[in-house]
Amino acid sequence: MKRSELALLLAAAMAVCGGCGMSMQKNGTVSETLARLTTPSTEPTADAPTTEPTEAPVLVRVEDPTQTPHIFFHSLIVDPALAFDGEGEDDGYNLYMTTVKEFREILQQLYDNGYVLVGLHDIAVETEDGFVPGDIYLPEGKKPVIISQDDVNYYDYMRGDGFATKLVVQDGKVLCEYEENGQTLTGAYDLVPILDEFVEEHPDFSYNGAKAVIAVTGYAGAFGYRALDMPGSPEYESDCAKAAAVAEALRNSGYEIASHSYAHINFTKSSCEKIANDTDLWVERIGNVIGGTDILIYPFGADISTKIYPESYEDTEKFDLLYDRGFRYFCHVDNLPDAWVQLNTRYVRQSRRNLDGFRLYHYPDKMRDLLSDPEKVLDDRRPLPVPEIS
Ligand SMILES: [Zn+2]
Repeated sequence: MKRSELALLLAAAMAVCGGCGMSMQKNGTVSETLARLTTPSTEPTADAPTTEPTEAPVLVRVEDPTQTPHIFFHSLIVDPALAFDGEGEDDGYNLYMTTVKEFREILQQLYDNGYVLVGLHDIAVETEDGFVPGDIYLPEGKKPVIISQDDVNYYDYMRGDGFATKLVVQDGKVLCEYEENGQTLTGAYDLVPILDEFVEEHPDFSYNGAKAVIAVTGYAGAFGYRALDMPGSPEYESDCAKAAAVAEALRNSGYEIASHSYAHINFTKSSCEKIANDTDLWVERIGNVIGGTDILIYPFGADISTKIYPESYEDTEKFDLLYDRGFRYFCHVDNLPDAWVQLNTRYVRQSRRNLDGFRLYHYPDKMRDLLSDPEKVLDDRRPLPVPEIS
């Protein structure tokens, strides 16, 4: 490596540290960061034996991190035959869920298109003057993207429908439990371990170790541990310990955790009193066990403000009560292909786009900025046509 390149890398790493102290503490030392930043973006070829040091890519500051697209998913369908068996929630799954096969294809296409995962805390950081764009350094030609997953709770209604049933920690890694023919299997049956595997194979898909934002409600516990919402029950202590271990392992491996409200409430329609009570309950039952968060992912994508960008939240009672409870990063749903982030003295607000059956089937053209071949993503085991949202 030339000295000038090393200087550039060091400057980049220091900028990362200065701009994002929290994620540096979370994700490791400067040298670890450098190791990640300098990971080669291409596989070694026959001409370049693996024993030879690989030329590090030149890192470039992302000009406008507020243009970072944010895409989101729900629990992934492992077995479409069970999800689409003609009973129960078939239409809901077809509309709002993504299959494991589709998710793997989406990751591959994002990667092939030059996208790199960054954290929500990377795109905007808090300073004395409020939130400002973060300093993100990526290899030339690469683009940042954020992924999140909602409702990582494994609700009762999904049992027997071909979804994972909980997250577990094994040798420091987060895996899923999945029931098949009366047996409990442990493996990569949902977004977290599948994403972990992909980043392991393609380390340059992750900036500074960032993976995804994992959002949980509270009324059914978290990560598949029901008793978090049943203080005093025989399983309470054990479920709390297991859920806390999952949260710790998630954070250690580059995930951020978000509140998705306690009761999956609609923040647009709910009164201030209802929002305050719901938020306090999430903090009491969930946040106190798995760790607090400053990220709120709105259920239904329903924002406290119906005014779209660039209208501000400021001076609204709902915002003030959420701010007082520690929330700074707010994400709703807005499928405009142009990503937007609103930075304010007291908050960051970002639009997200769903990549589910509804979007993949009805609006493939609107995903061409993210995916090179959206039609190829749609799982042929889905019943077609995917219904319209009624
Ligand atoms: Zn939700």
